[in-house]
Amino acid sequence: MSEKGQKVGKMFIVGFGPGSEDHITSRAKKVIEESNVIVGYTTYIELVRDLIRGKKIIYTGMTEEVDRAKKAIDIAKKGNTVVVISSGDAGIYGMAGLIFQVLKEDGWRPSYGLEVEVVPGVTALSAVGSLLGAPLMHDFASISLSDLLTPWEVILKRVEAAAQADFVIALYNPKSGRRTWQIVETQKMIRKYREGSTPVGIVKSAYRDGQNIIITDLDHMLDFPIGMLTTIIIGNSSTFTYEELMITPRGYHNKYELSMKKMALEVPLAVPE
Ligand code: SAH
Repeated sequence: MSEKGQKVGKMFIVGFGPGSEDHITSRAKKVIEESNVIVGYTTYIELVRDLIRGKKIIYTGMTEEVDRAKKAIDIAKKGNTVVVISSGDAGIYGMAGLIFQVLKEDGWRPSYGLEVEVVPGVTALSAVGSLLGAPLMHDFASISLSDLLTPWEVILKRVEAAAQADFVIALYNPKSGRRTWQIVETQKMIRKYREGSTPVGIVKSAYRDGQNIIITDLDHMLDFPIGMLTTIIIGNSSTFTYEELMITPRGYHNKYELSMKKMALEVPLAVPE
């Protein structure tokens, strides 16, 4: 109930993970089940089609995020249980921030009125990292190359700072039909600070139809197809490849003997009662 005693609904801002049903969290599935209205970008709705049968669906296009947020809030305020879906994690380049901004403009307070819950999901960098091996084992920076909402100078400054500080770098939104030169400038900037042989992983459509995994290096990364459904991970100065894997060491090898031939302790295999 709101302050004025009106019935208000609930809003869940849900990340459904990279795309496959196996990687959707149980909480996400549960709140989708409990909801009666789903709001989301058309492609995302298609990905969760099996979970949302029988619910009211509000489809919107990619560039209609603000309208989508307002619409979702309006419907929830009328007493519905609304799920707003984003791919990956809704709080990482997803819908969560925008919804809170609109709610703030609307004078919303968490203590009364609309109940809002953000449901975390497996973000692209976790999904992509798992397919590449273990590239994110040390400090990393995540940078979106989309300059639709952020000025390019700001993005490039962040790329430079991350490259200089030897962070592993995960690139979201690396390229689209219209945004093609940003990835070229980014590669050039990182190359100023890192060897051309630095491992680079390029993954398209992780855990979705059309999944494609490429491991290459900084000098050759632009020779491969990169698009809207791709996330790129650029290693730091210690990242190495082994077989078809990309691994960033965490320093164990400096402190411990990693050979299987040298096991100091007998690790007991305990079975819980
Ligand atoms: N909220 C999402 C990110 C949305 S931004 C998340 O947490 O993952 C959109 C970008 O995410 C894409 O351009 C791509 O870089 C990345 N992405 C999303 N899903 C992906 C997937 N299944 N495989 C590879 N990259 C993906």
